[in-house]
Amino acid sequence: MKISFNNCKARLLQYIPSLAMLPEGDSLRAISRRLDAKRIASGLLLGLWISGCSPTPPDEQSQVNATPNPTNSLNPVTKDKKVILTTFTVIADMGKNVAGDKAIVESIVKPGSEIHGYEPTPSDLVRAQKADLILDNGLNLERWAEKFYNNIPKVSHITLSQGVQPVEVAEDAYKGKPNPHAWMSPQNALIYVENIRKALVDLDPVNADTYNTNAQAYSQKIKEIDQKLRKEVSVVPPDKRYMVSCEGAFSYITRDYGLKEVYLWAVNSEQQATPKQVEKVINTVKANKIPVVFCESTVSDEAQRQVARETGAKFGGVFYVDSLSKPDGPASTYLKLLEHNVTTLIKGLQGK
Ligand SMILES: [Zn+2]
Repeated sequence: MKISFNNCKARLLQYIPSLAMLPEGDSLRAISRRLDAKRIASGLLLGLWISGCSPTPPDEQSQVNATPNPTNSLNPVTKDKKVILTTFTVIADMGKNVAGDKAIVESIVKPGSEIHGYEPTPSDLVRAQKADLILDNGLNLERWAEKFYNNIPKVSHITLSQGVQPVEVAEDAYKGKPNPHAWMSPQNALIYVENIRKALVDLDPVNADTYNTNAQAYSQKIKEIDQKLRKEVSVVPPDKRYMVSCEGAFSYITRDYGLKEVYLWAVNSEQQATPKQVEKVINTVKANKIPVVFCESTVSDEAQRQVARETGAKFGGVFYVDSLSKPDGPASTYLKLLEHNVTTLIKGLQGK
């Protein structure tokens, strides 16, 4: 016999708020398998008893009580490894580079998806419930995170932008708040990697040596890219070093590499660019004879193509910022993302 979750949901939620994000229509048995049974079994039974829902028959009761923590439902090769979730793909890649084969690192948001206004799914919550740690960006990037974390109070989370010197958003609704896109500067990426290293060593000290070695090697690669970026930017005449894009996501990289940033909107919003925003960029592009404009992979490039049409500038392609590309795309890792963006920018500025 199975009891529909829907019938009892309202009453159960009084006792176990974290059920709010589980799929409707699940049986109690399925729910108990997904969640930490020890923690919720008594709450479920109490809730059922008080609500007058059909009671769980004895055979299911014993299964509810006996169900182990589903964290270990992974295959035997991976069952002893720590599972670390990150909010988005860019920091998942950084995490994988530090973790190597000693821990499992996965992103909640999939490649190509928008991160700012993401809406977590019930299955995201189930995955998070089983994770040993969650790594996020902070600086108001994950607007959905607070509510999400409220549903998984026992899973700890660490913010990787800790220690970064924030750049403030210059306009719009987020004016004066820190710009969230700190990972876009390799200088900051070194801070992220150090925070990841510390988090993994604390979580899993047995593998500390590996995490320390991996973090050092990965930081070295980031430093090499940093040098390469400086060299590539230096070939562009100083008065032509403009980075024109859709979102103001390049404040850190432009600050650190001597570029000027121009954008349609400051931080991703649900709306398209307003006519005023488009007009402002058109005027800036014309006044400074900027030869090329760009947009990011995760948003519509329509408004920026309009800027290109009305100014005679070339539309130079997409930058990757808020997400890596799919594995066969040009920005499948964080390091490739940085190289792709700078190569695309420099080629565009040189009219190639
Ligand atoms: Zn963004």
